[in-house]
Amino acid sequence: MFEDIPVDVSPMYEGERIRSANMFVELAGPKSIGAELVQVEEDVEDGKVEVIGPNLNMMKEGEIYPFGLLIEIKGEKLEKELEGVIERRTHELCNYVKGFMHLNQRDQIWCRVSKEAKDAGFELEHLGKSISILFKEEFPIIEAISIKIFTNKEDVETFLEKASTAYEERDARARELSDEDVDVFYGCVMCQSFAPTHTCVVTPDRTALCGAINWFDCRAAAKMDPDGPIFEIEKGEVLDEIKGEYVNVNTIMTDRSQGTVDRVYLHSVFGYPHTSCGCFEAVAFYIPELDGLGIVDRDFKGETPLGIPFSAMAGQCSGGKQVEGFAGLSLEYMRSPKFLQADGSYERVIWLPKAIKDSLIDFIPEELAEKIPTEEDANSIKEIRKFLRENNHPIMERLKAAKETIEESETATETVEEEYPADMEANPEIEGVPMAQVAYTPELSLPSSGGMKIIFKNAKIYAEKVIIKRK
Ligand code: SF4
Ligand SMILES: [Zn+2]
Repeated sequence: MFEDIPVDVSPMYEGERIRSANMFVELAGPKSIGAELVQVEEDVEDGKVEVIGPNLNMMKEGEIYPFGLLIEIKGEKLEKELEGVIERRTHELCNYVKGFMHLNQRDQIWCRVSKEAKDAGFELEHLGKSISILFKEEFPIIEAISIKIFTNKEDVETFLEKASTAYEERDARARELSDEDVDVFYGCVMCQSFAPTHTCVVTPDRTALCGAINWFDCRAAAKMDPDGPIFEIEKGEVLDEIKGEYVNVNTIMTDRSQGTVDRVYLHSVFGYPHTSCGCFEAVAFYIPELDGLGIVDRDFKGETPLGIPFSAMAGQCSGGKQVEGFAGLSLEYMRSPKFLQADGSYERVIWLPKAIKDSLIDFIPEELAEKIPTEEDANSIKEIRKFLRENNHPIMERLKAAKETIEESETATETVEEEYPADMEANPEIEGVPMAQVAYTPELSLPSSGGMKIIFKNAKIYAEKVIIKRK
C-alpha cells in the first residue's frame, strides 16, 4: 500500500521525536507560521496531492519554512460537523510516517523532517500520499480525499486566514450552548497513547484543552463511531454545579485512568483539577503569594511570574497528571462564562500574556480588563502586587480579608497557648490536654524538572533543627 513511499509508515513511529541535531528542516512551529485544516467538499479528486511552493529538495538543511496542510474530503455520510474530529487525527497519522514529526494542532502545528528521511528520498508528496491512505483506512466514510501542501510564505498566510475563519465558525457555534442545555458530555482518549491516565471531558462550556475539539465535534464523532476514542458520558447526577463535579464523570475518569484519578472538577484548578495531557493551548497556574491565577499560552516565550517559561510549566503538569494548582486549558474555554468559575473566573486572574488578553478582550468583564496586568505591565510578584494595588484589582480585597483572618486566628492561638499548663511541652500526653494537630501531606507528584515549591498556608512550623543540603 505504501510501496511508493521511500520511508516506513506504521503506528510504531508515533512516538518518534526528531531533535534539532537530526533534523533536515522544520515546518511551521513557533518560529514560523502554519496550519492544518480538514474541509468536507462536494468536488474532490481522489488521491490528488499537490505541493505548492518549495519541496524538500529545494529547501536548505537546518532552515525553518512556513507550512500549510489542506485536506479536502468527500463522502455521502460525511457531515461538516466531523471536520474538527477528523482534522485532530492529522497529528497521529502524520506521525506514522517515519522521519516526519508532527506536534500540536490547528494553527499551532510544529513539524520536522529528519535527515534520514530526506536521504532516503522523502518528499512532501509522500507525506500527502501516506496520510491520504491512512485517513481513508481510519474513516471508511471518506470516499475521496485530496491534499494540498503549502510552503510559500504568501500562500501559507492566505491559507492561515481561511483556516482561522473555519476554526472560529466551529468555536462560535459551540459558544451558543451551555452545560445546562445538554444531557450528555463526551470523553476523548485520543491522547492516551502518550498520556495513559488522561481523558478529556468535553462539555458545551469546556472545549477540550487542545482547543481543537468541541461538544458538537464530539457528538458527530461518537455518532459516527460509538466504539471510537470519543464516547458519550451521561451527565447524570451533579455533585457540585459550580466546581463542575459529576458522578458519571468521576466514574469514567476512574475507569479510563486505571484508578489513578477518581475525581475531577471541570471548573477549578484547586482540589481535583482536570488532568492535562500535553497538547493544551494554555495553562492556568496558581500564584500563591498573591492568591491569584496566572495564565500562560504556548506562544508566550518569556518567563511567567513563577520564574519558569511555558515549556517548563507544561513539563510539570502534563502526561495525564492531576496537579493541584495547575490546569491545562484551551483558549476557547476562556471565552465560556464557566471559565474557572469555582475559583472566581477573571476576578481571580492576576496575570496573562498581552496577546491572549487582546484576543479575549470581548470575553473579559469590562470592569476587569484594565486591572489584569500582562508582561508589558508587570512580571515579578512585586511588580504584579504593585499593579494590582494601583488598579484596584478585586484580589486585593481577597488578600486583605485573608490577612485579617490570619491575624484573628493568630491572636486566638496565642491566647490558647497562654492557658496551656507549663509542663505541656515536656509531657504533651497529659490527659485532657489537647494534642498538637498533625497534618499529613497528601501524595505529592514531584516534577522532573523546574524544581518545586512547598506552600504552607496559615501554618506554624516548629523545628529543633532544619538541614537543607545541596545535592
Ligand atoms: S487533547 Fe483531549 S480532546 Fe484533544 S485529542 Fe487529546 S484527548 Fe482528545
Ligand atoms: Zn492531548
